[in-house]
Amino acid sequence: MKTVLLVLLMVGVFGAAAGAAVWTLRASEPPTDERGASPSKASAPGSVAPTKDESMSSAKAGARKISRAAYDVTPLSKSRVDELAKKLKPEEAAVILAKGTERAFCGNLVDNKKDGTYVCRLCGLPLFASDAKFDSGTGWPSFFQPFDKDHVAYEHDNTLGMERTEILCARCEAHLGHVFEDGPRPTGLRFCLNSVSLEFIDKGAPWPEASRPIETQVAYFAGGCFWGVEDRLQQTPGVVEAVSGYMGGRTENPTYKEVCYENTGHAETVMITFDPKTIAYKELLAKFFRYHDPTQLNRQGPDHGEQYRSAIFAATPEQEDQAKKFIEEQQASNPKFKARKIVTQVVGAQRAGKFYPAEDYHQDYHAKHGGHCAMPEDE
Ligand SMILES: [Zn+2]
Repeated sequence: MKTVLLVLLMVGVFGAAAGAAVWTLRASEPPTDERGASPSKASAPGSVAPTKDESMSSAKAGARKISRAAYDVTPLSKSRVDELAKKLKPEEAAVILAKGTERAFCGNLVDNKKDGTYVCRLCGLPLFASDAKFDSGTGWPSFFQPFDKDHVAYEHDNTLGMERTEILCARCEAHLGHVFEDGPRPTGLRFCLNSVSLEFIDKGAPWPEASRPIETQVAYFAGGCFWGVEDRLQQTPGVVEAVSGYMGGRTENPTYKEVCYENTGHAETVMITFDPKTIAYKELLAKFFRYHDPTQLNRQGPDHGEQYRSAIFAATPEQEDQAKKFIEEQQASNPKFKARKIVTQVVGAQRAGKFYPAEDYHQDYHAKHGGHCAMPEDE
């Protein structure tokens, strides 16, 4: 039953798979994916066991955990949860902390049809959006998917003589309700919630600090076939999301076929959204240089042509400066480049142009299909 549920859970807001948050609370089952910020990669159907690089990432326990929607979902300490719990009314604490259930048709959010977001009453994390709410007729607010799959955690619950799956806030472990497999399409799931576990924020209303995403930055790297570069960077702690696409060319909305067979000038490029508090741009540059060979002109291994060129598209003038400086330093002092010239282009923020995301079938390619490009391991 759990296997079916987990497969269904893979259909999330971001089309990704059941994540690390799930496993953190499933002590009875071995984790298949503990990479924190990038759970979608290894837990896809038919995926392979975590690689050495993945295990290394998970060992970096100090890094904060960021969801794909760019929220800090690092589990809160017990003392912080205790502090937050002081604001709860007794009837809220009875559900949120003591895992109680409010009576059917009694919650204030059952019939709420307004547009907006449902956040955790205890810690403020967005948990469900109104566009996933449906009328289940059960008397409890019901949703077919969470706001972000990493915002909800799961635990097996065999109390009251029933086998159920409890849902909790992934950040503060507030009890939310249960999830069942009799929901509507597209997920077939019914997240059955207690109104008191949630707080509703109207669309357009200001969001409290605790309900806001972290500040992220973007970076663009072209280093040959984007499947591999995306796969490796997505697994890097501090990288919130990596997307494959095209950049640096002359045509608008290019297709893969055009990039391969026509003279578009675009390079296969990966757009990174990252948490600058966890990883600095310079560290990303170092990773990028490990994941491809910056001395190969218009090719990477067997792939050749302008689309496979090595390039850094700067998102800001500061990135441009840092990238140029980094290349100078590498050329001058890294023995690896002593007799080999770095040919990586640095394209300034003014000239970089627009990034065009690639077709869906190119996204998360290695996570969906397995395999890895031949790339050096992290040091
Ligand atoms: Zn919470």
